[in-house]
Amino acid sequence: MLRVAVVGSGPSGCYTAQNLVERHPDVHVDVLDRLPAPFGLVRYGVAPDHEKIKSLQGGLRTVLEHDRVRFLGGVGVGGPDGVPVERLRELYHAVVYCVGAAAGRPLGIPGEELPGSWSASEFVSWYSAHPDAADEGFLRDVRSAVVIGVGNVAVDVTRMLMRGAAELHGTDMPQAALEMLAGGGVGAVTMAGRRGPTQARFTTKELRELGRLPGVGVSVDTAELALDPGFVDLAALPAARRRNAEVLRDWAAVSPPDTGRTISLRFFLRPVQVLEADGRVGGVRFERTEPDGRGGVRGTGVFEDVPAQLVLRSVGYRGMPPQGLPSDPETGMVPHLAGRVLSDGVPVPGAYVAGWIKRGPTGVIGSNRSCAKETVTSLLEDAPALESREVPGDPLPGLRAAGADPVAWPGWLAIERAEAELGASLGRNPVKLSDWEALWAAARSE
Ligand code: NAP
Repeated sequence: MLRVAVVGSGPSGCYTAQNLVERHPDVHVDVLDRLPAPFGLVRYGVAPDHEKIKSLQGGLRTVLEHDRVRFLGGVGVGGPDGVPVERLRELYHAVVYCVGAAAGRPLGIPGEELPGSWSASEFVSWYSAHPDAADEGFLRDVRSAVVIGVGNVAVDVTRMLMRGAAELHGTDMPQAALEMLAGGGVGAVTMAGRRGPTQARFTTKELRELGRLPGVGVSVDTAELALDPGFVDLAALPAARRRNAEVLRDWAAVSPPDTGRTISLRFFLRPVQVLEADGRVGGVRFERTEPDGRGGVRGTGVFEDVPAQLVLRSVGYRGMPPQGLPSDPETGMVPHLAGRVLSDGVPVPGAYVAGWIKRGPTGVIGSNRSCAKETVTSLLEDAPALESREVPGDPLPGLRAAGADPVAWPGWLAIERAEAELGASLGRNPVKLSDWEALWAAARSE
């Protein structure tokens, strides 16, 4: 029997477990997660109003219910309280790290740490009920916000800032976040890209959603579109970029309705400083940029200040691999060859990666399928050598001896029941438990 631990129960972890049981008749997989609740980014990253993407959870659930897959929540790996990487290696023939890329990338500009300046990932964690996210009063006294970056996460947080009560009511977001977001205090959101509109990373489906928010206008500056050489001949652009450009051009052609709630999409603005007012964020200073002819931009020495009481930095993610794994100091990614972890260029026996920690924070959820498959192919090639090493018949006592107190599948089902009860008590659909105590209490109640 081949015993494999998959660390992380998000899409990459679940697809790895699925691929393993589909391709090896005698593999047993433990899917470990630091949180007592499974599904990683599908539960804690996909926007609450994206029900269709959230429904992918059903497929991940089937994997975790497979008779040769076991979910063990509440098991940290590495760090002061986690099971050491070296110990995990002793308990299993192979360990696949599918831990994602959880930390927001820093911008490295002055003022970034001011109160009211957050990475988008912190904000997403808050409205997604991640138990590590504190209720920081994100929107207290906020009338206008700046979102830095023009990827799909920037679109997500912009949209959530502008959604109304009726649209949020049916989601599973915590009541406190719902009340704050639905309060309607934020009248203006400026989303800014440092390059041109045809170089933005958002996808057209997500972009269009901004134009369908009830009572919200979208403003695009024709002059900024005109700065982009791609706008000279839209037909010459690759299809995805052309579709984005067409949406933006159509928005620029009309003035947004005067509803008091506006999203401004801005381009060729590079953030140079988060400005301070009364000890907290007061706005962002941008430098106007222009195309450099090579796909990049250069500064023009012209600056523009955009006032805001909230700044969300949505400029990508960094990996935070468990202590004991090699990683790139800049990106936090784990070096690998077809999923085999490399240390100083040499494969670490029995250690693998899949998902964002392997290939970086890019792609859609489905991209994790092929990524997991590549890693599993490497693992199964190595399996004969890996299986020759003796490991315990059941790793559970070893995990417990290392300080873990795992929440098994019935514990997760108890959390689900508690969330349904909480929702019912609020007259809502299931509402996620948002703190560690509540999650543990529910998990232990079964
Ligand atoms: P992303 O797509 O890589 O976008 C990052 C943005 O940050 C880009 O606009 C980038 O501009 C900008 N940026 C980077 N460094 C910057 C700097 N120093 N100053 C100013 N701007 C800077 O990342 P993401 O939005 O975090 O998304 C991560 C992945 O998740 C993507 O693959 C995304 O499609 C996916 N996702 C999908 C969905 C969905 O399907 N609904 C939702 C959320 C996320 P440059 O291009 O100039 O570098």
